[in-house]
Amino acid sequence: MRFLPFFLLSLLITSMHAGFADPWVVRDGQAMGTTIHTEVWHQDLQLAEQVADEVINIMNHVDQLMSPYIESSELSLVNRQASQAPVQISDELFKVIERSIFYSELTHGAFDITYASIGYMYDFREAIRPSRNQLDSHVRYINYKNIVLDPSDNSVFFRDPNVRIDLGGIAKGFAVDLAIEKAAQSGVENILVTAGGDSRILGDRAGRPWVIGIRHPMDKNRVIAKLPLADESLSTSGDYERYFDEDGVRYHHIIDPKTGDSARDVRSVTILGPQAMDTDALSTSVFVMGPKKGLELLDRLPGIEGIIVDQNGNLLFSTGLQNLR
Ligand code: ADP
Ligand code: MG
Repeated sequence: MRFLPFFLLSLLITSMHAGFADPWVVRDGQAMGTTIHTEVWHQDLQLAEQVADEVINIMNHVDQLMSPYIESSELSLVNRQASQAPVQISDELFKVIERSIFYSELTHGAFDITYASIGYMYDFREAIRPSRNQLDSHVRYINYKNIVLDPSDNSVFFRDPNVRIDLGGIAKGFAVDLAIEKAAQSGVENILVTAGGDSRILGDRAGRPWVIGIRHPMDKNRVIAKLPLADESLSTSGDYERYFDEDGVRYHHIIDPKTGDSARDVRSVTILGPQAMDTDALSTSVFVMGPKKGLELLDRLPGIEGIIVDQNGNLLFSTGLQNLR
């Protein structure tokens, strides 16, 4: 297969339920700075409607806890206060920070929520980026070891006042998993939940797989691979979501913690796996790690697969997906 340069990868969830008599409920919303989409199947239409509403509510709830743009969010409070004294936080925020540190260790620091110690100096809409001086003086604060979690009182502490955290690389996945768990508790066995680039599917589409098409970004009608999926999560990270170009260089929202600058080894990463919090963190991680180290990591992780589009537009597959080529 050959692809055009600057090939970008995006996902299209193909709609197959037209013509089915089964009761599907479809809902769209906005939360966490992105679009939320859910499709729920249940014999009891009223229950399906309730669960769909609940999905949107959960997304808003996680936004209220973890948004850096909401001043009253727990995350904002932590960023203001955690260097003065340990701050007690909710179980939910604790769990997400804990899992983030797990991924920092697994990826030798490629995934690091303290990237925000420099990350907040970018404004992609206004084409603003940190100066050389700012990078030089602040890059040392990017280090997950500056975060101290204490499970005995559910608190978080920062070792330095210049440390900040941001959960943009993992919170949507967490929210998707939470929504799926709540739906399952309500008795729903077939549901899709999407928050921006992060999706999870529970069950199948009433006896048929969900078909996830990997779409050619420059030709909406061209699908380069179709994956029949059930009980799966998938996340995509790309350099074309939040960015600006300056002197031929792309500045975008995925930051290499070693430099404080945007990661530029790949154009896009899609990860498949059982849980959305993991696929979310891993799509950001592999983006930073680049093709070689990224694929090596994916091949070490059971149940996890991935597709990378490198800087030349080549598609690279993890070992379990080699048959897609
Ligand atoms: P999105 O769906 O928002 O594009 P991604 O999963 O691609 O999210 O993650 C990008 C987000 O992750 C950024 O907007 C930022 O909030 C956060 N981020 C950027 N660089 C890193 C990093 N090195 N480690 C952890 N999180 C990061
Ligand atoms: Mg991610």
